[in-house]
Amino acid sequence: MSKRIVIALGGNALGNTLPEQAEAVKITARAIVDLIEDGNQVVVAHGNGPQVGIINNAMAALQKEDPNQGPTPLSVCGAMSQAYIGYDLQNAFREELLNRGICNMPVCSIVTQVEVDPADPAFQNPSKPIGKFMTKSEAADYAAKTGYLVKEDAGRGWRRYVASPKPKHIIEAGAIRALSEDGHLVICCGGGGIPVYRTERNHLKGAAAVIDKDFASELLAEQLDADMLIILTAVEKVAINYRTENERWLSSMTPDEARTYIAQGQFAPGSMLPKVEAAVKFAQSKPGREALITLLEKARDGIAGRTGTVIRQ
Ligand code: ADP
Ligand code: MG
Repeated sequence: MSKRIVIALGGNALGNTLPEQAEAVKITARAIVDLIEDGNQVVVAHGNGPQVGIINNAMAALQKEDPNQGPTPLSVCGAMSQAYIGYDLQNAFREELLNRGICNMPVCSIVTQVEVDPADPAFQNPSKPIGKFMTKSEAADYAAKTGYLVKEDAGRGWRRYVASPKPKHIIEAGAIRALSEDGHLVICCGGGGIPVYRTERNHLKGAAAVIDKDFASELLAEQLDADMLIILTAVEKVAINYRTENERWLSSMTPDEARTYIAQGQFAPGSMLPKVEAAVKFAQSKPGREALITLLEKARDGIAGRTGTVIRQ
């Protein structure tokens, strides 16, 4: 049965360096084109952690080299990462489609802005470390020079911290939907989208923030009226008692069961927790909707009900 599916690609779909990404997208393309071959309408969202880090560092180096260059806003680094990742994915998807004889499916990336609420409490409590690690004194200098917030990151050194507000609205949803319904393979919401907020009249201003890509993908799935949200990551299933001797891999969860596990602290914040929260939100957003969390290479088996963790009412 053909479904409208939003896919959220995790870090392993793209790798950590430029050469890694060039290789990783080939495997990613096979997994995505499998689903298209099965007759599904697929829209692809993706993360950008390592890539936006690389770009951020490169732009900081540029500023050092050329005093005429000011600092590059994080929103601009995010836009650059969407274009760079979009390029590699577009190229790999096109090649894989053509290799399988699917010659009538144009591929495109949409630079995507996602509206956030400037009153979101997340702005009062920046929780997301980004960019390079610094010593305490480097961090103090950096903070004095830039006005950015710096904190220690889990004993690994000092880093810049930004807010991670909830996505409210995908500005380009109309274009994404029109292209997808017209048979294009659309890549969008890279890195959770470029966070923007409304200032006076119609102006959208970039925010120094990072939107979680799992939450942005969930919102995209709702806005596109998708049947299924698939979060592809580095584990085949979600576990309770993860990495303990009582570890148990789950084939399915209801939203109520998931909430119980969340309350027990079963899912690590910043990795599995946002995925399960996004899956629960989507599964509850309308009858019949379901979410799947599985490995990139297992997407096809997961849709067929053979593996992964399904979250449904
Ligand atoms: P992505 O880049 O796909 O968003 P993350 O590293 O953010 O990947 O999240 C996936 C990781 O979450 C897994 O690789 C796993 O190590 C970790 N994880 C934390 N808690 C759990 C759990 N309860 N069950 C399964 N995986 C978990
Ligand atoms: Mg993640």
